[in-house]
Amino acid sequence: MTQFSVGEFRTVADGVLVAVAEPAGVNIGLVVGPSGCLVVDTGSSPAQGALIRERAEQAAGVPVVAVVVTHWHYDHFFGLAGFAGLPAYAHESVAEWLERPECAGDAAELGVDADALVAPNRPFSLARVVDVGGRRVEVVHFGRGHTDGDVVVFVPDAGVIFTGDLLESAGTPHFGPDCHLKEWPSAVDGVLGLVAEETVLVPGHGPVMDRLAAFTQRAEISGLYGQVEYLVARGVKIDDAWEQGEWPFDEQTVRAVLPLAYAQLAGEGKVPRTQLPLV
Ligand SMILES: [Zn+2]
Repeated sequence: MTQFSVGEFRTVADGVLVAVAEPAGVNIGLVVGPSGCLVVDTGSSPAQGALIRERAEQAAGVPVVAVVVTHWHYDHFFGLAGFAGLPAYAHESVAEWLERPECAGDAAELGVDADALVAPNRPFSLARVVDVGGRRVEVVHFGRGHTDGDVVVFVPDAGVIFTGDLLESAGTPHFGPDCHLKEWPSAVDGVLGLVAEETVLVPGHGPVMDRLAAFTQRAEISGLYGQVEYLVARGVKIDDAWEQGEWPFDEQTVRAVLPLAYAQLAGEGKVPRTQLPLV
């Protein structure tokens, strides 16, 4: 049976805190304004979302006045029903995912009632400014990447960016079947455009990252797709790709993502051509 838990909120910058929620080790953000606070991501079930809301108010000493869902994956989104009555910001694609079988499948696996899940009530396509009890926070979608609807949360006065799963420090980035490998680096570029020397980046999973770590991961994600593109152009079939490539990630990660990478390249008409034998 899945074990749900929420750790303590710990300060990462002035009035900005992070707690870790299990089962997925997801970072839950808390931005505290003078008269209200904002929660970033909601945990893996409606009950966990309600607990996060309660813990956030205890830690902040002010009521939660808004919530942001960085993308539709269960560990970020399924707790939203625990924040009833509040403005809930997310990319407009999140509500569409709620209707899809992937979402119901994840709910069944977790033992969560799919009918209890709710859609965000403040969907947007590009960007919103949120007034967090007198503190200004920006939520921005920089394009497709880890999913088709990743949003990041920028707290300008604290120099903090919650990146969702566009970046990860708990391990390699999660290349699920719904990610967009080619466009992902551009979405990270959007984040990097906001980054200054001292900016604290809170990834979806794992400890906070600095600018160098974010640049490095951007290069690795870009390198992965670039390498597959190169191999396909040379006529290398998927079964030989691991041996013939130079990879920024471990073998297990690369082998898992190769079918997706080949499929996405095939979608652009790029397939390995069989070499004619030299006569
Ligand atoms: Zn995710």
